[in-house]
Amino acid sequence: MNIHEYQAKALLKHYGMNVPLGVVVHSPGEARDAAKTLPGSVFVVKAQIHAGGRGAGHFLGESSGGGVRLVKTPEEAKAAAYDMLDRTLVTRQTGPAGRVVRRLYVEAGCAIERELYLSLLIDRVARRITVVASDAGGMSIENVAEKTPERIYKVPIDPALGLSDYQSRDIAVKIGLKGQLIREFAQVMRAAYTAFTTLDAALVEINPLVVTKEGTLLALDAKMGFDDNGLFRHKEIEELRDPNEEDPREREAARFGLSYVGLEGTIGCMVNGAGLAMATMDIIHSEGESPANFLDVGGGASRERVGAAFRILLGDPSVEGVLVNIFGGIMRCDIIAEAVISACREVGLKTPLVVRLAGTKVEEGLKMIEESGLDAIVAEDLGDAARKIVAAVRSRRVA
Ligand code: GDP
Ligand code: MN
Repeated sequence: MNIHEYQAKALLKHYGMNVPLGVVVHSPGEARDAAKTLPGSVFVVKAQIHAGGRGAGHFLGESSGGGVRLVKTPEEAKAAAYDMLDRTLVTRQTGPAGRVVRRLYVEAGCAIERELYLSLLIDRVARRITVVASDAGGMSIENVAEKTPERIYKVPIDPALGLSDYQSRDIAVKIGLKGQLIREFAQVMRAAYTAFTTLDAALVEINPLVVTKEGTLLALDAKMGFDDNGLFRHKEIEELRDPNEEDPREREAARFGLSYVGLEGTIGCMVNGAGLAMATMDIIHSEGESPANFLDVGGGASRERVGAAFRILLGDPSVEGVLVNIFGGIMRCDIIAEAVISACREVGLKTPLVVRLAGTKVEEGLKMIEESGLDAIVAEDLGDAARKIVAAVRSRRVA
């Protein structure tokens, strides 16, 4: 799960990170009033979406603008807010469809001496939380990684020893910090690492971490992501969820306690058991097509959950065909059949459907499907099911 910049900054501040003063707002008037409460004579109005590259982004149908605006007066903050709210911001991380800006963060501006990059993430190969730092921070870290990878430093952290100050000082020197700033950087690292480990984060990214003209370190931008499997331990993080920023298919699935991951392919899969789901995805691939999702309805799924799962598949415009592959153990095939039939009646089946049932009450289940008049293709086994759905989808494409 990801959160907004202003939320990440509040969390990091709590763990000792130096961040600018700011106020989250939802209207132009609020933006003006927020600027009035902030110190200094420069303010920054920032679009809050779960994607980076806002500064270099543009609003849909416009070439200039961007999602980060420097302004000099509260009235200008109001005008900038008017310009950004309820509009679609496109950045290199949003894809061409962009994201609608619903909240803004108004911050006290600062004078920048240097822009650095700092992130903590999990390196799955090293099996360590890894610090990534660079002296080339700012808006184009992707270009730095591509063109001058030698300017990026990676330091793995031993989980038993934790982060040591000598590692932080070493990184500080590598990215060109001197004197008092080295000590300040160690403080920034402690804050980031403590937040990361305490909150079961998957990512903490500060880009840019700036050296101000006054000679202090300040986190000007912040991004945090969390391990979904750790969220049950952090109700305060769960509360930061913004449903507007999430895949509607995944949101609906989560509501019914389904394990669902949206993918890029065209064959919707409804399967019980993660292992069977993986096998089903593999066999679709080996038949030359790709799954539209991973979906495990679970061992003892209710009629309601199976119905919800099926509605998600049928409502997904990228799904060209549906494959139901259920092994009835605890789950009964007649319950699956009933849920599939009623979901199809409710939503309307517009794509080919292949059903492969095996196990408890399989005869009853198949008979129900047959008698329902539903336009479903019944398959014998997993290989047969994959071949049949792929053939059905392809012949429809040709037609
Ligand atoms: P991103 O483009 O989504 O990563 O948004 P950032 O928060 O990183 O802002 C983009 C850029 O705006 C930063 O790299 C800075 O160069 C600039 N910026 C942000 N806040 C300030 C500020 O207070 N003062 C100045 N001078 N520039 C700022
Ligand atoms: Mn940034």
